[in-house]
Amino acid sequence: MHIEDDLKLTFDDVLIRPKRSRLKSRADVTLEREFTFPHSDVTWSGIPVVAANMDTTGTFAMAQALQSHGMLTCLQKFYSVRELEQALDGGVDAHHVAVTAGSTDESFALLERKLAVSSDLQMACLDVANGYREEFLDFVTRVREAFPQLIIIAGNVATREMTEALVLAGADVVKVGIGPGSVCTTRKVAGVGYPQLSAISDCADAAHGLGGHVMSDGGCAAPGDVAKAFGAGADFVMLGGMLAGHDESGGELVEQDGRQFKSFYGMSSRKAMETYFGEVAKHRAPEGKEVRVPYRGPIEPTLQAILGGLRSACSYVGAWRIKDLPKCTTFVRVTRTTNDVYKSFDVAD
Ligand code: 5GP
Repeated sequence: MHIEDDLKLTFDDVLIRPKRSRLKSRADVTLEREFTFPHSDVTWSGIPVVAANMDTTGTFAMAQALQSHGMLTCLQKFYSVRELEQALDGGVDAHHVAVTAGSTDESFALLERKLAVSSDLQMACLDVANGYREEFLDFVTRVREAFPQLIIIAGNVATREMTEALVLAGADVVKVGIGPGSVCTTRKVAGVGYPQLSAISDCADAAHGLGGHVMSDGGCAAPGDVAKAFGAGADFVMLGGMLAGHDESGGELVEQDGRQFKSFYGMSSRKAMETYFGEVAKHRAPEGKEVRVPYRGPIEPTLQAILGGLRSACSYVGAWRIKDLPKCTTFVRVTRTTNDVYKSFDVAD
């Protein structure tokens, strides 16, 4: 047995310390960023906030809402080639979506067919729950060799050595997060995880040394957490739960006690496994749960809250661009982040 004694932190352990700032207004802040990559020569510009490739958030409707802000959507992997074709014809912008794939031979074949739909599709999200398997590295290399110009996002991992391995294997962006997700139960079921703020900081340090980037994935419950993720060094921040419950989200709308809710569930939950594979395989225990989130109407006000929060964070620390946020950020460790005395009396969030 080995114990790492130094404290690792998550979003709720810190606040961003305000600093003198020359910014006059939040409107002066640039949230767009242009990216170059270690492998692909393609550049990508946009606001690096990303809808998660869950079937409840990585929807075409979500992509259309996010693309109007220059944001990115990692499409859920169960869309068919035909559905992708129709969505691109119907107004989904290929430059603001990533095609998602797992790591099997069938996934590779489906990825090839999806990327063939349009030469404007330039990003793929290679997503596995456990990015520590050796064969996942081989899969990333296989995709890199087949598509030298593809922007490859690959994960998930939470430590520096595997971040380096993924970048060296061919990933441009490493997806970081083991267990922080709102509907993830890996930490309960398997006892495995890594506090997200420290994971971002460690993995960003490793990826940036190799010219790569990191996408923080999971654990953001409020716009301030998105700002903390960027402040810790994330180049992209992926969101699931914060985008759930809207018109553009998947999941059934249900009525309970006169109130409306939308179903939201983890991609390793019983609900997802039964939906896509008919059953939970005998050797597996679900590592995600299903919840009902209050129905929140259209996504637009939520997106504005996220982008407004990010601009505010930048203006509090003097960051003119989202790219500058890590170097302008000093975190203070705290024992309490918010005053929740009226939490249960909220009129709206
Ligand atoms: P959230 O933004 O909701 O906190 O986290 C979203 C992320 O949780 C997803 O992008 C994905 O990485 C992770 N996730 C989604 N479903 C599951 C699941 O069933 N199990 C686990 N362990 N993680 C999940």
